[in-house]
Amino acid sequence: RAKQSGRATYRIFEAQMDAELQQRKALEYDLRQAVLKDELEVHYQPLIDIGKRQVAAVEALVRWRHPARGLVSPADFIPLAEETGLIVSIGEWVLETACRQVLDWQNLRVAVNLSPVQFRNRELVETVRQVLVRTGLAPERLELEITESVLINDASAALEILNGLKNLGVKIAMDDFGTGYSSLGYLNSFPFDKIKIDKSFIGDMDSKDKSGAIVKSVIGLGQSLNMVTTAEGVETPEQAEFLRQEGCDQVQGYYFSKPVTAPELSTFIERWDGARAWGDVAA
Ligand code: C2E
Ligand code: MG
Ligand code: MG
Ligand code: MG
Repeated sequence: RAKQSGRATYRIFEAQMDAELQQRKALEYDLRQAVLKDELEVHYQPLIDIGKRQVAAVEALVRWRHPARGLVSPADFIPLAEETGLIVSIGEWVLETACRQVLDWQNLRVAVNLSPVQFRNRELVETVRQVLVRTGLAPERLELEITESVLINDASAALEILNGLKNLGVKIAMDDFGTGYSSLGYLNSFPFDKIKIDKSFIGDMDSKDKSGAIVKSVIGLGQSLNMVTTAEGVETPEQAEFLRQEGCDQVQGYYFSKPVTAPELSTFIERWDGARAWGDVAA
């Protein structure tokens, strides 16, 4: 009996595995189609320069407008795109779309996220160079965001690629700082221009004194290393004001704007009134 029910359980398990595998295969098929059918979109979120009270840059964030599922967030398809290698072509498409788009926005910079998988590919430097040539964007207006996970596997290969990118004249930002291994050695050994303090620390500042202290010291660290500091996930005027007082260079978060479509961002820029926006923060 026990044996029989065991077998039954196994069969259920097997069926479940099949279902999951099938679902994954279906999603993978859909994602390949998405690329061909032009279902991917790039949204943009402003980064505000605190000192100048101006929009300094935008971060390009990919979304998938799925015919049945609606707007799918990157967390739900980037991992699959990475496993299947599709991220290489998706990433190049995002990069080119964002570089072309930002030409419409005077001297704003654009920040584009790079996956560790793109980083494993030695062609990356050449790809970025070609996109800059094709779009005509000045290299200093492009910022590439990477996370520490890029650096841990093969640090010397990563350094070679980073130096190649730096030689093109683009900027490099360390994204989600504080969440990974956060070896301070990375800041020393790699040519970062910017540190982005992870949003988890900003969100916790209200409830945990320690988070405020951590944010403060990362800002100090950035200043002493001559790197720009950006705080992500700023949702309240209190957080923005704290960051201003501590000397953070830039803020990014829902308090200023969620990631929006390109036309919506154009409207945001047109309506942006730094004095008023910052007045609201300080009030
Ligand atoms: P990220 O690069 O750290 O991007 C910031 C994320 O924080 C975005 O999520 C953004 O919408 C969200 N965010 C911004 N302000 C706030 C806020 O005030 N509160 C909260 N709770 N969240 C805020 P999103 O767009 O869902 O992207 C998630 C992650 O997906 C990104 O994290 C990035 O790692 C990845 N990703 C997005 N686009 C791309 C891409 O084109 N290529 C690659 N490789 N990864 C991408
Ligand atoms: Mg990012
Ligand atoms: Mg981040
Ligand atoms: Mg992140």
